[in-house]
Amino acid sequence: MHETNTFSRILTDMTMIRRRDYHLENEIPQAFRGTRSAFGATFEAADKFGWTLVHPVSANPNPSGIVTSAAFETISGMILTAINAKGPIDGALLHLHGAMVSEGYEDAEGEFLARLRQQLGPEVPVVVTLDLHANVTQRMAENVSALIAYRTYPHIDYYERAWQGAELLDRAMRGEVRPRTVIARRPMIYGLDHGRTQRGPMAELIARGEVLERSGEALVVSICAGFSRANIRDVGPSVTVTADGTAERARTIAEEFMDYAWRTRDFTTVKLVPIDEAVALARGGQSGDKPLVVADYTDNPGGGGYGDATAFLKGLIDGGVEGVAFHAICDAEAVEEGMRAGVGTKTTLTLGGKTDPSMGGGPLSLSGEVVCLTNGRFIAYGPMGGGVERDYGPSMVFRVGGIDIIVITNNGQAVDLGQFTSLGVDPTRYRTVAVKSMQHFRAAFEPIAREVVLVDTGALCSEIYTPELFTKVRRPIWPLDRI
Ligand SMILES: [Zn+2]
Repeated sequence: MHETNTFSRILTDMTMIRRRDYHLENEIPQAFRGTRSAFGATFEAADKFGWTLVHPVSANPNPSGIVTSAAFETISGMILTAINAKGPIDGALLHLHGAMVSEGYEDAEGEFLARLRQQLGPEVPVVVTLDLHANVTQRMAENVSALIAYRTYPHIDYYERAWQGAELLDRAMRGEVRPRTVIARRPMIYGLDHGRTQRGPMAELIARGEVLERSGEALVVSICAGFSRANIRDVGPSVTVTADGTAERARTIAEEFMDYAWRTRDFTTVKLVPIDEAVALARGGQSGDKPLVVADYTDNPGGGGYGDATAFLKGLIDGGVEGVAFHAICDAEAVEEGMRAGVGTKTTLTLGGKTDPSMGGGPLSLSGEVVCLTNGRFIAYGPMGGGVERDYGPSMVFRVGGIDIIVITNNGQAVDLGQFTSLGVDPTRYRTVAVKSMQHFRAAFEPIAREVVLVDTGALCSEIYTPELFTKVRRPIWPLDRI
């Protein structure tokens, strides 16, 4: 699984992939059995249906820049080799993201699925779960039996979608159904409120799709909002409909749904505030209040942001704000310096802003105290992937005035309270909690917040759409062209 932000300067190679959530063969059941993850559901389904599973690799690096050809060939090669070595294979259930771009292939999943189809032959069912931020292509749809996208954002239904996929795959393997998938798209870079499922067009289409699934008119209706930080031809929202055999009705449904997505393309629930406004709100907190949760939307590591932007942190420090828990600055060097200094030591560090100082603020020279050091590992307990081990690498809490800054080695957005509590920071006891995330943080952090605001710090995930940035997209396309 990889969501590729093609604007990031950090290439995704095997070193980065091995750093986090990377498991081979028999490590996979050990990591996921009994969890509410896609793999957790898959192992349960295998038990129920009596499948013998072949599971060569699980790789889920943090969203970042383009995947190297070597990494793409290595991971796809592991899967294709296992099919040769351990086949014949009766069916495939894959958990992919759907917005991966490699050096060789803009549509990396499409390329991989075409190779898989080639190797398995035309009749073996292939069911794929996808992130709802997938940039789904014709090639992906043609080379699978079914695509099943998440229906929640924050994504809290990995487990349910994998079960849905497993049940459909089992029926297909028994020959009860012969699923075929069609896709509809429109000339748009983004839409469907970037996939927000609380209300608006995405919620509307998901609900309509579920009605069609229940009535049996379609086996699966998947709505993907797309991932817009991708300068590729096929960026954008899509609807895929999976039906038993004939595709005509499926095509009509997909086109109708995309008409609606096109008509509502302007709809947005995202409101960003500038840094000074967010700082003023933070300063307004009283002791004893529930925390104000401020999310840096534009440095979201979950969208390929570098996670080291400093502009909002600088705003808080300059504004003299106290009672702040700040997650996070991704800066391996600073953590190493903190480790050399040791817990309880006062020191001066150069923190953050090192990857690209033009994206949300450059390095800050800060004097403070190292108050906690950990290996960055803990078991997540929130609504997103609870039960699974997380690994943010060597981590530190660096206290500067009234601000506890969490510094991590492996980049990742804030989705679980454990990212604070594993470092001895109880976010409920701070007046302000700062995170880096667009939307996923809400599942765990909205329940503890007195208020949530999104701040624009001008970092890598800023919503900027210009022909200069999007040089490879199909044209005409909205919002670059008048259509
Ligand atoms: Zn997503």
